[in-house]
Amino acid sequence: MTQDFSDGRLFIGGDWRKGRGAPITSVFAAEGIENQTLAGASRDDALDAIAAAGAAQQDPAWRDLKPHERATHLHRIADGIAANIDRISWIQSRDTSKTLAETRALALSAAGTFRYFAAVVETSDDLLTAPRGVYLTSSVHEPLGVVAAITPWNSPIASDAQKVAPALAAGNAVVLKPASWSPLVCLELARIIDEAGLPRGLFSVLPGSGREVGTLLVEHPGIAKVSFTGGTSTGRHLAGIAARKLMPVSLELGGKSPTIVFDDCDMDLAIAGVLFGIFSSSGQSCIAGSRLFVQRGIYDRFVERLVQATRALSVGHPFDPRTQVSSLIHADHRASVEAYVALARDEGGEVLCGGARPEGLDAGAYFLPTIIAGLDNAARTCREEIFGPVLVVMPFDDEADVIAQGNDSDYGLACGIFSNDRRKCWRVARAIRAGTVWVNTYKQFSIATPFGGDGASGMGREKGRAGLRAYQTQKSIYEDLGGQPHPWARWP
Ligand code: NAP
Repeated sequence: MTQDFSDGRLFIGGDWRKGRGAPITSVFAAEGIENQTLAGASRDDALDAIAAAGAAQQDPAWRDLKPHERATHLHRIADGIAANIDRISWIQSRDTSKTLAETRALALSAAGTFRYFAAVVETSDDLLTAPRGVYLTSSVHEPLGVVAAITPWNSPIASDAQKVAPALAAGNAVVLKPASWSPLVCLELARIIDEAGLPRGLFSVLPGSGREVGTLLVEHPGIAKVSFTGGTSTGRHLAGIAARKLMPVSLELGGKSPTIVFDDCDMDLAIAGVLFGIFSSSGQSCIAGSRLFVQRGIYDRFVERLVQATRALSVGHPFDPRTQVSSLIHADHRASVEAYVALARDEGGEVLCGGARPEGLDAGAYFLPTIIAGLDNAARTCREEIFGPVLVVMPFDDEADVIAQGNDSDYGLACGIFSNDRRKCWRVARAIRAGTVWVNTYKQFSIATPFGGDGASGMGREKGRAGLRAYQTQKSIYEDLGGQPHPWARWP
C-alpha cells in the first residue's frame, strides 16, 4: 500500500508545529518495525493548546453559533473522515497492528459518531419548567469550556470521536491527548478537522507523556472537564486530582467481563459469541468477555468445541484479509500478557490451547488465542484485566450461582448471556452489575445506546442523546411575568 504518515508535526492551538517534548515512537508491532518517531508535546505545548482553546471557545465566532450551525462543522468533519477511510484505516492498522477490516469499521464508526452528535445537538431542547409563581422558568444547557480528552491505544479513532464529537457539539473546545503508543491516527484526525474548517484553536492534539502532559491537563485550572478512557489505576489517579479541583470527570475504565453460557443455549450462537467476545482485537478490548462461565451439564462438550474452534482461528498479519487474530500492539504488551499466562500456570490453571507465541510469525508481537481452565474465580488470573487473547473458563451450577460468581469482581463493564430462555436472560441481565449486557450476541454497538461501566470500570456514560449533556452545564433562568415588586420588599 502506498501510504505515508504525516510529517511529524503536532496540531497545537491551530498551528502545525514540532513538539517540544520527549520523542515518542509508533511501532508496527506486527512486523517489529518503527513507523515514525516524533517529538512529543511538552508541558509548554500543552499550555499553548489550553490558552488557544480557552480563547477560541470564548470567541463569538464559536460561542454564538446556534446548535444547527455547530452541527454543520460536525458534518464536515464526518465527511472528511468518510473521504479518507482507506488512509485512516491504514494508519491505524500501522499504529495498532489491528486488522484493516477492524480499523476500517472503527473509522466508519467515528464518522457516524460525528453525524450522530450533529443530529443530537440540532434536535436537543432546553427545558421550560413548571413555575410556582408568576414567572417563567427555563433551564438552558451551556458548554463547560475547555475539555481535555485523554484516550488509550486500543481503538483510538473511535474512542477519540466518542469524546471530541459530543464535546464540540456542546460548544466546548477540546484538547486531545492520545496514548503514546498510538499517536499517528489522532494526528490524521487533526488534519481532517483542520481541513474541515473548525475555527482555529478549538481543537489540539498533544501526543506526549501521560504522566507529564496528561497530568498537566487534568490539574490545569483552564480545563473544565476531563473525559478519560484508559486503565483503572490511571483513572483513579485522575479522579483524585479532579476531586480536589471539583471538576467533573468521566471515566471509561477496564473490565473483566463475564460471559454466561446456560445449558439451554444455541451452542453455535454461543461459541461464535464467546470467540468474538474475547479473541477479536486480540483481546485488547475493555469489553472483552474474558471470564467464561459454562453451566455444568454442557461444560465438557462446550469447552471441547470451543477449544477446537479457537485452534481454527486464523492468526496472522493485519493486512491479510483472512486474519482474525492479529499481533498485539507492542512487544512490551505481549510480555505483560505472557506474564499473566505464567501466573495462571502458577495458580494451578491448565492451558487448554494457546499459551504461547505462534510459529512462523517471529518478527511480530503475536500471541496465540489462549483458554485456561481449572481456576477458581478468586484467582488473580480471573480478577485482573489481562487485555490480551486470554480466556478463563469456569463451570457453574445454576442461575443464582452464576450471578454470584459473575458479580464477584471489582469491575462492572459488560456481560454476555447465552440461553434460549428469554425470561431467564432478562432476570440475569438485570441482576448482573454491568453497564452493557448482550443477550445471545456480544460486542454489538450503537452510538445511540449509552455506554459505560460501574465500580472499577468507571463512572459516567458516553454515547446516546445524553452523551451531549455530559459536556454541558445547566443554567436555570427565572423571568418575572407579573410586573409587581416583590411583596417582601416594603419600604415607607
Ligand atoms: P492507560 O495506561 O491508563 O493510558 C490511557 C491514557 O492515559 C493514555 O493516553 C496515557 O498516556 C494517559 N495517562 C497515563 N498516565 C497518566 C497520568 N498520570 N495522567 C494523565 N494521563 C495519563 O491505559 P492504556 O494502557 O492506554 O489502555 C488500556 C486500558 O484502557 C485498559 O484498561 C482498557 O480496559 C481501558 N479501556 C477502557 C475502555 C472503556 O470504554 N471502558 C475503552 C478502551 C480501553 P501514555 O500513553 O502517554 O501513558
